[in-house]
Amino acid sequence: MSVDLLFLDVDTQHDFIDADGALAVPGAPQLVSILERLTQFARERRIPILADVDAHVPDDVEFEQFPPHGVAGTPGQKKIPQTLLPGAETVRAESPQAQIEKFRRGRIPQLIIEKQTLDVFAQPVTEVILSALDPERVIVYGVATEYCVRCAVLGLRERHYTVTLVTDAIAAVDPGAGEKALAEMQAAGAVLDTAESVRRSLE
Ligand SMILES: [Zn+2]
Repeated sequence: MSVDLLFLDVDTQHDFIDADGALAVPGAPQLVSILERLTQFARERRIPILADVDAHVPDDVEFEQFPPHGVAGTPGQKKIPQTLLPGAETVRAESPQAQIEKFRRGRIPQLIIEKQTLDVFAQPVTEVILSALDPERVIVYGVATEYCVRCAVLGLRERHYTVTLVTDAIAAVDPGAGEKALAEMQAAGAVLDTAESVRRSLE
């Protein structure tokens, strides 16, 4: 049985969201209240939230391209409290099936995928979770627009999921690249909408 809706929360971790984070995304601190409202809305409506987070090793190859960030076990790697629900679980590397089934049934409100690359679909479990839930629509938000958000949205569209991107709950590292990524995601079929409009449409 498929679910109507799935929220996908991309990389809302201290290192990206906080102004003094290791790889702070400009404008991200201003998103926090919107991110919190989206998270609480999902909790109240029992909409499952799939979240992904960077969980790097200290000398990860990605740090040739970006300053070190999201290192597993550091405070900066943790999700900001505003987007973390009580009862959230991190996907187990071994035999996650029972966990995914509990998530699908609403017994786990939020499932967190740890990733080491920009693209959450590089983790095969992402596809397994999506197939299990088979959501009619995926609502995507988080950071950064032209990196991990772009990968997630294009990956979802390649797999023919209906995607709404929440334009006032995302932020780009570079504004020009962010605009370009938005156009690319829209061309791939993602619908752009605001958090308030998304909430109203679901009421
Ligand atoms: Zn990273």
